[in-house]
Amino acid sequence: MAGDPLKILRSVYGYDAFRGQQEKIIRHVIEGNNAFVLMPTGGGKSLCYQIPALARPGMGLVISPLIALMLDQVTALGEAGVRAAALNSDLDGEARRALWRQIHAGELDLLYVAPETLMRDATLEGLRNVPLSLVAVDEAHCLSQWGHDFRPHYRALADLGQIFPATPRMALTATADTPTRAEIRSLLQIDEQDCFVAGFDRPNIRYTITEKADPRRQLLAFLNEHREESGIVYCLSKRKTEETAEWLGEQGYEAIAYHGGMDRAAREKAQHRFQREDGVVVVATIAFGMGIDKPDVRFVAHLDLPGSIEAYYQETGRAGRDGLPAEAMMLYGMGDVMQRNRFIEESDAPEARKHVERQKLDALLGLAETGHCRRKALLNYFDDDCEPCGNCDTCLNPPEMFDASIPAQMALSCMYRSGERFGQAHIIDILLGSRNEKVLANGHDKLSTYGIGKDYTRPIWRDILRQIIALRLIATDSAGHGGLHLTEKGVQFLKERPTLMLRKPRPKPVTNESAARS
Ligand code: ADP
Ligand code: ZN
Repeated sequence: MAGDPLKILRSVYGYDAFRGQQEKIIRHVIEGNNAFVLMPTGGGKSLCYQIPALARPGMGLVISPLIALMLDQVTALGEAGVRAAALNSDLDGEARRALWRQIHAGELDLLYVAPETLMRDATLEGLRNVPLSLVAVDEAHCLSQWGHDFRPHYRALADLGQIFPATPRMALTATADTPTRAEIRSLLQIDEQDCFVAGFDRPNIRYTITEKADPRRQLLAFLNEHREESGIVYCLSKRKTEETAEWLGEQGYEAIAYHGGMDRAAREKAQHRFQREDGVVVVATIAFGMGIDKPDVRFVAHLDLPGSIEAYYQETGRAGRDGLPAEAMMLYGMGDVMQRNRFIEESDAPEARKHVERQKLDALLGLAETGHCRRKALLNYFDDDCEPCGNCDTCLNPPEMFDASIPAQMALSCMYRSGERFGQAHIIDILLGSRNEKVLANGHDKLSTYGIGKDYTRPIWRDILRQIIALRLIATDSAGHGGLHLTEKGVQFLKERPTLMLRKPRPKPVTNESAARS
């Protein structure tokens, strides 16, 4: 087989051109490097290992979790003239011996194998002197405890580097947040510079993230722009899906609830109506979505904070699969964030898990609070990137920024002086010079920061605090009581006092003059 990737693409697969980063990845591996490939489903990961396997001498070993998927791939490759086979436990003795003869005769381009089969002594022994072009781990998130589909058999793959030291290793997945990714790379010993992330952008989806004020009215205003269209409204609780669906019904919408507590028949009926009819709004918990294949979902609304940026991306990604304009709207409030914080802290999960959960929540808050392009923030989270998109709320309606260096210093120094264990409300009480009992009982009326924040109203202070939490200058405590403390970044900020620009708080504009006066 000729070694040129483009020739292989055309002659074997019949495609004209590579997509996105495919060519870069393929050339990188052909040169003998490792690669970590993160691309959404349908992005074209298979070619990223198949073409280097064809271009390099030796047989490509592909580790895949499901026999059915392997067989599909093998059949499709066979039709394209590629010599591929799957080694699995279903093979009878005769077929197995024939397959091993092919392997040893160098007659295969690609061999698919499940991790438990590969890691058996007999298999490893059989492969010992077989020249390999590469070892590719498909669905690599199954390796990670932090991933959503951890499989113990995958864990043994951490030895691949020792077993095949001279063979390029590839890990491919569609779902991996930062901790998952780091874990996969460290287990498979793949360097940072061997990472390729791409193809996450969904340009036809318009993102809007708004503070929760009057959620029902906000939802109604949003739905008014989407009359007669199909869409999903996500809520956190089962009860809320039912109440919201009923209320939307009264407002003249074809709205149905969907949650895991409904019996199967009712769920199937809801799903069926959504798929077949036009203009149905499903008000659902996250139980809804898997297996939904409706190309013309025009909107997705979140009435509560999604579980993470990944979850947000997946849930909003159900809109606009047909490539036509679609809209994603999320409402969020500090109450949601505090509640989520409490869930994390009160859970029985091990500390390491909680740490990851906290990071995910912070990242989500960062996305919600950003004054810059949402799409860019979203893609950056996946290590992908774009130019400011012109199709999100902050691009279309850039928030005004203001110099918040002084109020930020006030808030941080107030937190520092009061011992870094009080929550947002109390800190604001001190800044506003409140004479409430808690302030007086703690002697906080004696602090130098007492009453220095009177130029701003309470809602403005809340907005400022939310933004500096999102910037990681301060963080909520790990005990879950909502106490705020300075992060390392916050301490540094207080020392160096750099200029800090924040989104202008919405309720009442603040001017530079009033900030300077204080
Ligand atoms: P993934 O494994 O990332 O979900 P696949 O490798 O199955 O995605 O590819 C998704 C689809 O896109 C397949 O039908 C594949 O043949 C097709 N495809 C991949 N790369 C290209 C390309 N460069 N040009 C055209 N079609 C492609
Ligand atoms: Zn944008």
